[in-house]
Parts: sequence; structure tokens; C-alpha cells
Amino acid sequence: MISMTSRDFLEMPIADLIISSEKVAHVQLGNNAEHALLVLTKTGYSSIPVLDAGYRLQGLLSMRMITESILGLDHIEYEKLDNIKVNDIMETKVATLNINDKFQKALDLVINHAFLCVVDDEERFVGIMTRRVILKQLKKHIYQFNA
Ligand code: AMP
Repeated sequence: MISMTSRDFLEMPIADLIISSEKVAHVQLGNNAEHALLVLTKTGYSSIPVLDAGYRLQGLLSMRMITESILGLDHIEYEKLDNIKVNDIMETKVATLNINDKFQKALDLVINHAFLCVVDDEERFVGIMTRRVILKQLKKHIYQFNA
């Protein structure tokens, strides 16, 4: 077996490791918080991308952001969900990779994020790269390297 050097490994393109956009649960700008809550609950994901009509990445939305937006003084104001837009509560600072980035960049960024959004040169959303996928690759490399 030919084992990759660590340099080759870190310079590996990320393109093959991406979960493609059509398999990624997302919400769109203008959707309300009730819809987003349904998507998050049904998929079981803690956070999902927010895209515009042109499939450009605009932010991330998590269950916590929704809950915080309807927290009243002594109870949760569920009736507000309908009137809150995802645009008003999403996080706009998103850890992003370009489709042409190398594995090293993903490894650096994923330390602080459960997943990274991937965009193309026109800033269109092409998918995500999860910490799970990155750790699996790293484990494979370490085991092969030490075999
Ligand atoms: P995982 O590594 O599979 O546990 O995924 C980590 C996080 O990545 C999840 O909590 C979600 O926020 C996000 N994620 C993973 N897969 C998807 C998907 N298919 N659609 C949307 N978000 C996802």
C-alpha cells in the first residue's frame, strides 16, 4: 500500500468530502421561525444554513437562536414564532470553505465548528463539510501512516 505523506494529506482537495447541497437541510431568507423550528426538529440537526433565492449562503440558524427570540420574562411566547423571520435571528458570521480549498483549511476551521459551509467561486452554496467526516479522514490517515 502506498501511504500518503502528511503534507499530501493536508493538501488533499476537499471536494470529495462534501455533503452536497441537495442533501443538506436548509431554510430560506423570508421563512418564518415556525417553519425553521419544524425543519430543525424534524431533521434533528442543531444548526442549518440559511440561503437566499439564488442559493447563496446568508447565515446559520440554530434551535437556540429561535428559543432566545421567543423567550419572555417568565414563559416562552410560542405565538411569536409566526411573525419572526429567520433573517432577524440568524448568525451571519459563518465559517466558510471554498470548493477549491485544501483539507488543511477545513481542519483548522472545524476545531470551533461542528460543520463548515462550502461555496463556489460565485459564492453559491454547494454543501457542507462536517466535523465527523473530517475526523474520519484524519483517523484513516493516522492508522495508514502508522501501519
Ligand atoms: P454530524 O457530524 O453528522 O453530527 O453533523 C454535525 C452538524 O452538521 C449537525 O448538527 C448539523 O448542524 C449539520 N449537518 C450535518 N448533516 C446535515 C444535513 N444533511 N443537513 C443540514 N445540516 C447538516
